[in-house]
Amino acid sequence: MNNVRTLSRLGRRTEAPPISWMMKIALGRPKLISLAAGFTDNDSLPVAETAGLIKAILSSRKAGKPSLQYGTTEGDPRLRELTGRLLRDSDAAAKDDPAYSADRIVITNGSQQMLYMVTEALCDEGDIVIVEDPTYFVYLGILQSHGIKARTVRLQEDGIDLEHLKSVLDQLRITGEIKRLKLLYLVTYYQNPTGINTCFQKKAAALKLLRKYEKASGHPIYLLEDAAYRELRFEGVDEKSLLTANGGKDRVIYAGTYSKPFASGVRIGFGFLPEPLRTAVVRIKGNHDFGSANLLQQILSGALGSDVYEKHTIRLRARYARKAAVMLKAIREHFPEEVEYMIPQGGLYFWARLPKHMKCGEGTKFFKACIENDVLYVPGSLCHAEDPARRKPDNTMRISFGGSRLENIPAGIERLGKVIRAEM
Ligand code: PMP
Repeated sequence: MNNVRTLSRLGRRTEAPPISWMMKIALGRPKLISLAAGFTDNDSLPVAETAGLIKAILSSRKAGKPSLQYGTTEGDPRLRELTGRLLRDSDAAAKDDPAYSADRIVITNGSQQMLYMVTEALCDEGDIVIVEDPTYFVYLGILQSHGIKARTVRLQEDGIDLEHLKSVLDQLRITGEIKRLKLLYLVTYYQNPTGINTCFQKKAAALKLLRKYEKASGHPIYLLEDAAYRELRFEGVDEKSLLTANGGKDRVIYAGTYSKPFASGVRIGFGFLPEPLRTAVVRIKGNHDFGSANLLQQILSGALGSDVYEKHTIRLRARYARKAAVMLKAIREHFPEEVEYMIPQGGLYFWARLPKHMKCGEGTKFFKACIENDVLYVPGSLCHAEDPARRKPDNTMRISFGGSRLENIPAGIERLGKVIRAEM
């Protein structure tokens, strides 16, 4: 009997997420310092604040019972209202700007669920999504599992390479594949994995460019702005979101999260969506779970409705700035000068590039040597989509200062530096 044949195409096709085997490696070596995990900082999680919020919710006559009851699929109205207001203020938009209206918002189980549902609502097997090269590797898992093809566009220091984007779009138009293009996915703030922050002009120009190909595609081409790290800025200015751009309200899905700025264990995310996408996503969510957990949503409403959220994000920014500085100092001390790297202004990651002839992907001698030396990073090759148009780079790594303990960062970088020198 062939047991695999019982699985659906999606069930058979879905590969094990890299996160699973990386976690296994970490668990099997207690002395290992993981610079791989995209975890948030453990020491600054708002435990006391959350205990206070839960106590207030459960002792309230008005909020107590509803918080332990099912709610609506699109999410708690107060949390949607507060989320709209928060983003409108961050974007310095007008009070009555309809782009921020609560009825365009859907609350989800982390922004991950929003990324999944938006992609599922737009794409069939064989459809095309354009992604940054490199991009968030879990998103690539969503594409892979659904049989959606990726096309990649290079990144520059301030975001997507517009000329390259145009040439990819032109190519798709020439081959007729533009009809299968549904979406451009951009991680616009302190990108996972490179830490690159996209400037507003660039993303607005990308949006404008997509519009020009809609006649050839025969349908809207959406732009999914994944803003997961927006609040973790420790230097520079807060770029406005694409909701403020011309056409943003009709063509942009803004996916945000409270995982990073508040607590990943509460795991509440959200999206701002245009129609008819919003309705499709709410229906899909109805089939997933008919609504995110009410108690968790109430915790966030409590944090946003008081000074808890704002105070916490201010503290977090200082914390990550400190961790990034400690990592930078260690990198300067321990990495040979042939290693190139970018200095992030926010988020959780450094991105390093080894000399071209070196390979550091999973399964390489280099990767194994790192594990033997009890240090783990995310091989950059995992973050590059399969794209017939170019060869996949294999000499890059994502190094995170988010989840590792502050005091372990220098030792982790020292171990990594030692392997780099030895392999050079
Ligand atoms: N987008 C990006 C770029 C991420 O790195 C992550 C988490 N690592 C997410 C989305 C999803 O996070 P969450 O589901 O916790 O909101």
